[in-house]
Amino acid sequence: MKRPPLNRRLAEFGTTIFAEMSALAASTGSVNLGQGFPDTDGPEAVAEAAVRAIRDGRGNQYPPGPGIPELRTAVADHQRERYGLAYDPDTEVLVTAGATEAIAAALLGLVEPGDEVIALEPYYDSYAACVAMAGGTRVPVTLRPRDGRFVLDLDELRAAVTDRTRLILLNTPHNPTGTVLTREELAAIAALAVERDLLVVTDEVYEHLVFGGAEHLPIAAFPGMRERTVTISSAGKTFSFTGWKVGWVTAAPELITAVRSAKQYLTYVSAGPFQYAIAEALRLPDTYFSELREDLRAKRDLLADGLAQAGFEVFRPQGTYFITTDIRPLGEHDGIAFCRALPGRCGVVAIPHAVFYDHRDQGAPFVRFAFCKRTEVLQDAVKRLAGL
Ligand SMILES: *Cc1c(COP(=O)(O)O)cnc(C)c1O
Repeated sequence: MKRPPLNRRLAEFGTTIFAEMSALAASTGSVNLGQGFPDTDGPEAVAEAAVRAIRDGRGNQYPPGPGIPELRTAVADHQRERYGLAYDPDTEVLVTAGATEAIAAALLGLVEPGDEVIALEPYYDSYAACVAMAGGTRVPVTLRPRDGRFVLDLDELRAAVTDRTRLILLNTPHNPTGTVLTREELAAIAALAVERDLLVVTDEVYEHLVFGGAEHLPIAAFPGMRERTVTISSAGKTFSFTGWKVGWVTAAPELITAVRSAKQYLTYVSAGPFQYAIAEALRLPDTYFSELREDLRAKRDLLADGLAQAGFEVFRPQGTYFITTDIRPLGEHDGIAFCRALPGRCGVVAIPHAVFYDHRDQGAPFVRFAFCKRTEVLQDAVKRLAGL
């Protein structure tokens, strides 16, 4: 063949680092703190609700395109009760195949070829691929460590906006750094979006996973933002059912229409019976959400303390499933080489930050560990890391 079979838009996206590292974990018998999924399932009652839906014949055939009304209403109630954001379940809520499809559909539905899309770097791996599929140009703005936290430089963000900027792709709480954007940061981003007439697509899948004093604030609630913000979340992380792939979008009707126009030709619909179960899950009492947070906070501290003792510089995250570390105190500089060697050295798998950067050198010394694992698994990992 004269022409390579993969189109140019996707040529730079080979197989993900997660596949390589998971294979390495399996072949070396390592503790896998690479990929971010819990190793225990979510609430029994929610699993039972899915079984009941299947048995009762609810959702076994194509559900409605925008999602079942019960789930759209539960999402609208969730946004109103938690954040004071009112959305009409019929015209302003769309159910998707996880947040992943919501991100893809939002970018495909809103970005014209040649448009620039600003994303916070390091960024979740699907963002770059989806911007490319939409024919857009990604413009990374780098979060940098300052006082134990990865911080957004608002002047850099402002300087990244050009006449071709279509939207800002936000993620808070932020994977992989664990940063939760503050009220001041979000207010500044919102003011910039209003001033330059930009859309904001915001990935808030970790909205319930915030620890200590940190508070998740949706940017859609800031002045002038409701009509220009596409808010994305999903059930995977909040309810520990990442395999169910139930996600959702809330936005003004014209924005929902744009996202739905792409979404209907991606999956059309998905996860029928699981939609019924998640509609129930969103109505779990507050104690469910606070216990989930407390359980994860304890796990964060267990792993963070172990990593610090093993000699890493630790950025204790305010949210998400992930701890970012700096390997330079260990005399290391290259996170990719470090992560390839780590299973052999001590039987633990982690993910190098560099794969989440356009400016790979900026991410080189950082390595990410997932702590959404059983306590005994984390204790085992800490013991192994102590042998470094
Ligand atoms: C896990 C994750 C997603 C994917 O969510 P799904 O609902 O499983 O598709 C999206 N964004 C971020 C930042 C994530 O960490």
